[in-house]
Amino acid sequence: MSTITLLDVFIFISTFGWFLLIPIMERIWCIYKQPFWRWGLISDTLYTYQGFALQFLFAASSPIFVEVLLNTSVQLHFFPSDGMGYLQNSLATQPIWVNFIALIFFGEVAFYVAHYFSHKIPFLWEFHRVHHSSVIVDAFSTSRFHMFDRVLFTLPNLMCMAYFGATGEAVMYYFFMRNFMDRYIHSNIDAPRWTHKLMLSSPHFHRWHHSTDPAAQDTNFSGDFIFLDVLFGTAYDPSPKEKAPPREFGEVGYSNNLIVHQFLPFYHLYLKFKEKQSIKALFRLSPSNS
Ligand SMILES: [Zn+2]
Ligand SMILES: [Zn+2]
Repeated sequence: MSTITLLDVFIFISTFGWFLLIPIMERIWCIYKQPFWRWGLISDTLYTYQGFALQFLFAASSPIFVEVLLNTSVQLHFFPSDGMGYLQNSLATQPIWVNFIALIFFGEVAFYVAHYFSHKIPFLWEFHRVHHSSVIVDAFSTSRFHMFDRVLFTLPNLMCMAYFGATGEAVMYYFFMRNFMDRYIHSNIDAPRWTHKLMLSSPHFHRWHHSTDPAAQDTNFSGDFIFLDVLFGTAYDPSPKEKAPPREFGEVGYSNNLIVHQFLPFYHLYLKFKEKQSIKALFRLSPSNS
């Protein structure tokens, strides 16, 4: 008889739990009352299943499968085949907690860099703008990402995992944590802000990133841990006593349809090119609303 391990429980919650639990929690314990039914809800739910594809690959398979996929297949294709690159495979012999901390570090650096440039480079912004388009930020809006944007945010992280030879079990626990945190920080849950002192993000922190308030524009680029925003001075985190949490998000009039989302950035890029009459201008660092 096979026994159920802790990892099995995590896989089950990761796959079915967060997706259902967080939307319930954000209705009970909310920052502001928000409607459940809104424009784009069906598309965002479908986006969630697009995210599930990655989730099933890494968080709901098996440690051996993850290792074969990342540390064998990807490594052999992209990195020195003798495994002798600088620090290559160095995580393979480390305990799980070292792997986990390293994965958080790689994940945050990859996310912060991709996210920063997605806001500052007009060409990338048009793809990332899809994620920012929902006028209601809730747990379902978490997964609204253009395909190109998703690859840009995920690929460098997976490459680091493969190069450093992260263990399959650590990768699975990492994705379990990410599946929770990503959905949690987009939720409307009135969670405590003291976690910011521990460098852990929260709905309060990430909702400023999505807000239309000019003071918060191009701030809070971090994913789940906020140390890079603190380090580089890009954190915007006024206390609710100082300033009420944001109420307005996204872009009124932007499509809420996931099929349209895949084409819209190309159309907007064409319009931007026509306006600026220069390809170079699309790659010059500038604020996201310019
Ligand atoms: Zn963003
Ligand atoms: Zn977001």
